[in-house]
Amino acid sequence: MSVSKDDLRDLYAGRLGWDKTKAIISGPKDDDRFETAVEVLQEQVSWPERILMPLREHLYVVESGGERVVKCDCGHEFGDWRRNWKLSALIIARDDEASLEEIYPGLRRPDPALCEVREFICPGCGSLLDVESVPVGCPIVFDALPDLDTFYAEWLGRPLQGVRRCEDLTHEITSRWGQAEL
Ligand SMILES: [Zn+2]
Repeated sequence: MSVSKDDLRDLYAGRLGWDKTKAIISGPKDDDRFETAVEVLQEQVSWPERILMPLREHLYVVESGGERVVKCDCGHEFGDWRRNWKLSALIIARDDEASLEEIYPGLRRPDPALCEVREFICPGCGSLLDVESVPVGCPIVFDALPDLDTFYAEWLGRPLQGVRRCEDLTHEITSRWGQAEL
């Protein structure tokens, strides 16, 4: 189905009625939907860096200084998109009864011996960017590592400049932490 730019703008702003929203979500996508969606999002941010892919509410992979980095709509940059941005966020770990009780009072509170809740906050604007509820000791979840070169070259037919290997580089952060402790 063909969706206007105005409808997409309203959809992202939460202003679109449910009937239209449902039709957009469940209908076949226009061939140029990605480009139109990125145009709408690009108009809404205050910085000039080109959005390559929206990651989630507030976060985008952008081209910045020849690199591809994760950037918040406030302008804060988290670094190379191949490193899990969550490790560069402010993290609130709810891993005891008192802190879990604040959000899951009473019987709904999970057992802190089994579960912890992590909140990831943008250091630039204080927005809550993600929450994960995981078993104790679970590594921080890397939600998405989009293969940008394959997507642009093979799906959009517009290859990006300077191919980058799409591999998880999160270990670059954790290895720095290890060295800092020596
Ligand atoms: Zn921010």
